[in-house]
Amino acid sequence: MIVPMSTWLNPKRTVAELKELRALAGDENGAQRVAFTRTWLKAREWLRQKVAGLPLEIHNDAAGNTWFTLRGESKKALLIGGHIDSVPNGGWLDGCLNVLAGVEILRRINDQYEGNPPVTVRLVDWADEEGARFGKSLFGSSACSGNLDMNEARDLKDKDGIRLPDALKEVGVDFERVKDSGKELQNAAAYLELHIEQGPVLLDLDLPLGAVLGTFGVERHAITFHGQAAHSGSTPMNRRKDAFLAAAKMSPEIYRIAERCAPDKSVSQVGQRFAGVCTIGSCTTKPGIVTSVVEECRITLDQRHLNGPVLKQMLKDARDASDRFAKEGHVTVSWERLWQIDPRPFDDELIALCEEAIRETCGQSHRLPSGPLHDAAEVARAGVPTVMMFVQSLHGISHNKIEDTKEEHLELCVTAFDKLAEKAMGWIQKKS
Ligand SMILES: [Zn+2]
Repeated sequence: MIVPMSTWLNPKRTVAELKELRALAGDENGAQRVAFTRTWLKAREWLRQKVAGLPLEIHNDAAGNTWFTLRGESKKALLIGGHIDSVPNGGWLDGCLNVLAGVEILRRINDQYEGNPPVTVRLVDWADEEGARFGKSLFGSSACSGNLDMNEARDLKDKDGIRLPDALKEVGVDFERVKDSGKELQNAAAYLELHIEQGPVLLDLDLPLGAVLGTFGVERHAITFHGQAAHSGSTPMNRRKDAFLAAAKMSPEIYRIAERCAPDKSVSQVGQRFAGVCTIGSCTTKPGIVTSVVEECRITLDQRHLNGPVLKQMLKDARDASDRFAKEGHVTVSWERLWQIDPRPFDDELIALCEEAIRETCGQSHRLPSGPLHDAAEVARAGVPTVMMFVQSLHGISHNKIEDTKEEHLELCVTAFDKLAEKAMGWIQKKS
């Protein structure tokens, strides 16, 4: 007799456990599971209790990531990832939805295959995804992927001046050895991550679930226009070298650039006009007084796109525009790169399986890129075939106590994500 999977999977239990965790590790201002704090350790201890009845091997790796392993016929492993840590005053779903859905899937697989699934299944709770305390996100996963910049990380300090290596020592992690965690990926054959969308795309389309194509590449620059300070009363308009005027022209220009680079054929769907995004997030002027023409104006530009060459073109367009506006205004311009990361496209075959799982669960799927970075980006970077599934966020808001998702959507996402896990196990078997 073939028993349907739903006999074992209990998505309502996941929702109940999310509420339990919220009560345990949150307060009236939201979730307080900041990495390397007591509350985080308490939440992690609670997680271990949740899986106590399952025949799992549990250990912390050299970077403090916790691995829950259900051994299978094959050493080849399906990985499911998430993070129990949150930002201060965070939401109740970010990170822990993925972990608790993973727990429910482990239960289902263990029951269905009577403790011996065809491939090994591993849940990982990444350490310090958010980087809330030391300002550097994806700590555990970037250590594991081998991409953590050790020199930069060694010098990171929190607001009390405590160094990252010292905070790690408190929780039993030797900073100099964190990259030893890389060996955990040895038999990794696929990596799956479920996450709340943290944006409004699925909400606007009125769809509960989406398949994620990858994480955006990011170009982050400071652009400084240099003019000349001059008296605001005595300097005729046509004689000014106004650094602010040139900088201000960049503001409408970035909307034109974002529009020009859309639509990307792989992403464009109904309701999604822009495939990339550009943001001028700050503007400072010197001398910054009401009676002077602006001598120096510094703006920051953040550009993101899933397609590498398109992102390069967006950056070039912005550079060209800044040169043009500087020339028009008789000022000069200089650029400084603040940060850059390449796009991380996910695995095409796993994206297709993810869409299949979504369609079987709720009829319609949607493909979308991820603006925020996730641990999945690091795992993909390490060469493990990866995909993410997004579930709709109410208000399109995250990193805030008002972060929320309809309970029926939470249940749907656990069901769809479980189907994806089953399909991925079959996919791993076929490939090996
Ligand atoms: Zn997250």
